[in-house]
Formats: sequence, structure tokens, C-alpha cells
Amino acid sequence: MSIINPDLWHLLKGEQKIYTEIKNYNPRPVRITLISDTHNMHDDITSSLPGGDILIHAGDLSGRGTNYEIDQFLKWYNSIDNYYLKIFIAGNHDWGFQTHPEECQYLLEKYDGVCYLQDRLLKLGDDHPDALKIWGSPWQPEFYSWAFNLPRQGEDLREKWAEIPEGLDILVTHGPSWGNLDTIKGKSVPLGCELLRERIDIVKPKIHVCGHIHTGYGYKYANGTHYFNAAVLDERYKYKQKPFTFDWNRETNEIEFI
Ligand SMILES: [Zn+2]
Repeated sequence: MSIINPDLWHLLKGEQKIYTEIKNYNPRPVRITLISDTHNMHDDITSSLPGGDILIHAGDLSGRGTNYEIDQFLKWYNSIDNYYLKIFIAGNHDWGFQTHPEECQYLLEKYDGVCYLQDRLLKLGDDHPDALKIWGSPWQPEFYSWAFNLPRQGEDLREKWAEIPEGLDILVTHGPSWGNLDTIKGKSVPLGCELLRERIDIVKPKIHVCGHIHTGYGYKYANGTHYFNAAVLDERYKYKQKPFTFDWNRETNEIEFI
């Protein structure tokens, strides 16, 4: 049996008429897999990707964000053929996307099976009012001067989050929001972004996926949002934390883990 949702294929191609038709017979839930923080070790997790509709990577695909590392990641991500849509964002290790975005754009153009989001909205179903909306953003509060850092609680960060639109289905950010899957092992001090949390409380995405703080790996549900920290490497950069795969009913916002 195919695990791919044929209805979604039409959404990806932006065929609004077909989208309207499939709405009327209630398509089956969307199967989603979430990963993050693979840090060049993506080959280790290939066999943990069961296939589905959408695969999302929440950043830190590399160690230092060199063109070589980014190219190796893209080659791997592009080669995964059991998902219709493969989305990713950059993280604080993925320097190239910040320091030489034109070269990264050139790399991205080599691989047409992946979608990179940087403060950008992806709409499946074009301008249809019910289009599935996904926003991705790499920024995090400053920490030892890494890529996509901005001063904590600062106006620049607030402006980045203000761009996140309302009515979102899925929000992808590299770092967690304050108080949600954002602590270091053995410590209870939250490290997530206070301003991101404020924005999430307004925007109320159905799903928020992040990574960044490896020991924050996990899932929780609060105030109508499913929160995931999908960092697959532990604090020692060993692959110990499994990707999340689930069926998501968009109408009811219920999920069922696979
Ligand atoms: Zn990170």
C-alpha cells in the first residue's frame, strides 16, 4: 500500500480546482516526518525515514556551513524519494546561508526536489483560502556569535517574528520558543526565545517544529499547538533521538504517531 497521499500531490502543484474537489471528500491525514540538527550525519538517519507526504528539517544540517557540507546535505536530501515535499531551514551552524547566500542559491538550484525557507511562506494550494501554510525561519537569540544570531529580546528579533503570518499550519524555526522543549539536560532554566513565544501565542500555529537544543528533544501539546523539538543527535552529537513521524488531521488538529 502506498503511504503517499495522492491528494497532496495536486496541492504541491498548486492545482486549486483539484484542491477544492478533494476538500469535499475529506482527504486522509497528512503524514509528516520531522528531523533537525543532523550536523553532517544525515546518512545515519536515512533508514529511520519511513516515507510520507512532508519531510521537514529544522536546521543545523552542517558543522560550519561550508559549501561542501551544504552540497553534501542537499544531495542526500534531494535523493530521499519517499516524501512528496522536503522542506528545510538553516540553523546557527549553517553559516553559508548567511555569509554567501548567492552561492547557496546556486547550490539549491542544482537540486529541484527540496524547498528552502528563510523568512518565507510556502502555500500548498496557492491563493486558495484553505491553502496549507508553512513558514520557516533560521533566527535565534544570540549565543556565542553564531549564524542567524540576533540579540535576545531585541527589536531585530521581534521584527523577524512579526513577519510570521497568522493562520499558519506549520511553523519551522531553528530554535525553540521560551519554556517549550528548550532546556539543557539536568537543568530547568529555559533557553528558548521569549519573543518567539509571544508571537506563537498570537499566531497559534497548529504545529511548531524546532531543534537547536539537542537535550530539548521531545514533544508536547499546549494551547492548541503541537510542539516538537526534533533534534536527532544527542548532546554528544550521537544519533540517539528518532525522527518524529505522525499522521496529522488538519481539520481537527489531531495527530497519531507512527
Ligand atoms: Zn543549532
